[in-house]
Formats: sequence, structure tokens, C-alpha cells
Amino acid sequence: MPVLVLKPGREKSLLQRHPWLFSGAIDRVDGAPEPGATVMVASTDGKFLAQAAYSPSSQIRARVWSFDAAEAIDPAFFRRRIERAATARAPLQDAANTGARLVHGESDGLPGVIADRYGNVVVMQILSAGAEHWRTAIGEALEGVTGARCIYERSDADVRQLEGLAPRAGPQRGVLPRITTIFEGGLCYGVDVVTGQKTGFYLDQRDNRALVRRLARGRRVLNAFCYTGGFTLAALAGGAQTVLSIDTAGDALGLARENVARNPSLDATRAEWRDANVFAELRALRDTGAQYDLIVLDPPKFAPTAAHAERAARAYKDINLWALKLLAPGGLLATFSCSGGIGAELFQKIVAGAAVDAKADAAIVGRLGPSADHPVALAFPEGDYLKGLLLRKAA
Ligand code: SAH
Repeated sequence: MPVLVLKPGREKSLLQRHPWLFSGAIDRVDGAPEPGATVMVASTDGKFLAQAAYSPSSQIRARVWSFDAAEAIDPAFFRRRIERAATARAPLQDAANTGARLVHGESDGLPGVIADRYGNVVVMQILSAGAEHWRTAIGEALEGVTGARCIYERSDADVRQLEGLAPRAGPQRGVLPRITTIFEGGLCYGVDVVTGQKTGFYLDQRDNRALVRRLARGRRVLNAFCYTGGFTLAALAGGAQTVLSIDTAGDALGLARENVARNPSLDATRAEWRDANVFAELRALRDTGAQYDLIVLDPPKFAPTAAHAERAARAYKDINLWALKLLAPGGLLATFSCSGGIGAELFQKIVAGAAVDAKADAAIVGRLGPSADHPVALAFPEGDYLKGLLLRKAA
């Protein structure tokens, strides 16, 4: 097996079980590993540290598969890891909740592998050279463990470029049913696994949608960046008086309306839809004197990495400022960031700044995070992307 030998003293993070090895930590490569091949990682004095997948074109030069020298990295290894991940999620799934993240990359010991279950369909994303090397074994294991009718691949995320990989999408095993639907909190949602964002649905927000449902009764709700209506349906189910939902993605809005219609228990006449840019629309709403009792702000990733943090901070501040202005006295704001480049502390500071500029007296009611099936491994805090705050404006 080829060996990556580290520079002196650079083994510390691996000893803490962190799964990434940056190019700057590597002294030399003994052997000629292909992209994605399994290599041994060793300290300067030749001590075994980990088995990892080699990725020559990425700054993250290797990602750890196993810290055990005796564990074979083979199809059975992937089957074991996927079984372990699926078993951990099983208690969160029932007839009322048929969507779940089954595999959450590094946090499940499978760097570069994402798998979301939508009922009979599993959508997998292969995002690293190492995962690409084993993609057939991974697809087989997902099918074997879940018994799903179709394993559909959505390996078309931009991050693949950093790994030297071209985008790929399509059914990997089985045939995709004409429509994929899930239940969440007993509500039925159609999921567009073929052209939808990410794998089709934002399962990381499931627990926060349940919270919004509990808070919505009798309130005038504004759902900004609504995508396929996740929070819209939750608010309607919770008894919202009205829900205005805004997004720029016309096809997502179309599916959002269909999703409301899929649930006869919901009163579609309480839902209003706007194909608009949230930045402009919040200002326009303010001009009309509109007020809301519950606002959800769930924008896309403004800062994928820390390098984008400054510009992203301005964008977060802007939407939070206008949302706070639109909030009625005693109103609630559920505000989120899924930017890897903005930590929880910085996000709170940005929102605090927005409150000052909006002249809004607001307090934090609670902190919001990703759904319970998006855990983060103890040694991998980087996996914690979604952060949110629930604020209340003084009455
Ligand atoms: N809350 C959603 C997920 C939101 S994803 C859920 O629970 O499912 C972010 C959404 O923001 C995407 O649908 C994207 O189309 C939309 N978006 C991005 N920029 C926008 C903008 N400037 N104005 C309105 N929508 C925007």
C-alpha cells in the first residue's frame, strides 16, 4: 500500500480522530497511488496513523477511512459503515416520517458520501475522490441495507471540481418511480430528486419545521426562501392565519403549490406565493406597511467558506434587518445560516447588528440546529453547517 508520510509533529489532528489531512502536512508520498486509492498514513518515524483515500488534486489531500491498521477497506467495510449509520437513524423513521439522512459523510465515518432516503428511493451524493473509487460498492450497500427500489445518484455538486471529478447524475441501481414523495410530520411532500436542489429536499430543517408548526397558530407567517414549501406546509398545518412564501426558483414554487394541494387537510386559500427576490421583496413589503407575526428566513449558503464571510455577512445582515422591521410587536423570527464560512458566534453577532440597525428590541428565545439525523462526529465540528436563532421582538 502506498504511504503518505507526514511532516514532523503534523499527526496531532489525526490522533484526535479528525478525518482530514491537508496537503501542507504531508512530507512525501511513497509509491504512486491513483486518485481515490487507499493509502496508509504514517508519522515521520514510520508509525501507522490511519488508512485514507488519496486525492491528489484537492487541498484535503487524504480523508480517513479507518484508524485501524487491520480493517480491510473493501465492499464489506462500506456495507458495515452504512448499516451502522442506517441503524442509528431507524428510530427517527416511521409512517409519518419517511425521509431521513442515512449517511452524513465524515460524521458517519464515510467522507464524501451523502445518502438521503425518500421512502422507496435513496439519493446518494459522491463528493470525494475516495468515495468515487468505491461508488459501485456504496450503491450496492445502500440498496442491500435499505431495500430501496432505486438508488439515484446526484453527484453534481460543485465541490466535486475540487476533487478533480466531473458531475454525474442518474439512476445507479433500479428504476426511479415517476413521483417520489415523503411524509414528514404526517404531511406529504413531493421530492424532485432529478432536478431539485441538493438531493431534492432539505431534511436538515425537518426538526425546525416541526417547531414552526408548533408556533404558527393564528399567526401571519412570512416564509422567505421557501423552496418547495417545507416551512409553508408546516405553518399551514400548525394553523397559521396566512402564509406568504417567497422564492426565485419558479419550478420549486410550482412544486410547493402542488405540495399544499397534496394535503387535503391544509387550507390552500391561506397560502400566497411570490416569485421574487427576497432582498427586494422585503423592502417592497415594508413599503406597503405589511406586518408578520412569524418570519422564517432560510437563505442559501451565502458563504461556502470563510473567504466569502465578509460579503455574506452583509447579505445576512440585510435580510435580518428587513425581517425584524416587518415583525409585529411580539412577533417571532426563525433565522438560519447554512454557511460553512460563518460560525454560530459570528452569525449571532450579525443578527444582533441587524436588530440594532432595525431599532428592534429582540431577544433570543432559542438556538436552532440541524435535524437529529444530521449528527456531527465528535472530532469533526466542521460538519456543523446549519445554525439558527429563534428571536422574539418585544411586544
Ligand atoms: N426552507 C427551505 C429550503 C430553502 S433553500 C425548505 O425547508 O425546504 C434556499 C432557497 O432560496 C432556494 O429555493 C433558492 O431558490 C432560494 N433563493 C436563493 N436566493 C434567493 C433570492 N435572492 N430570493 C429568493 N429566493 C432565493
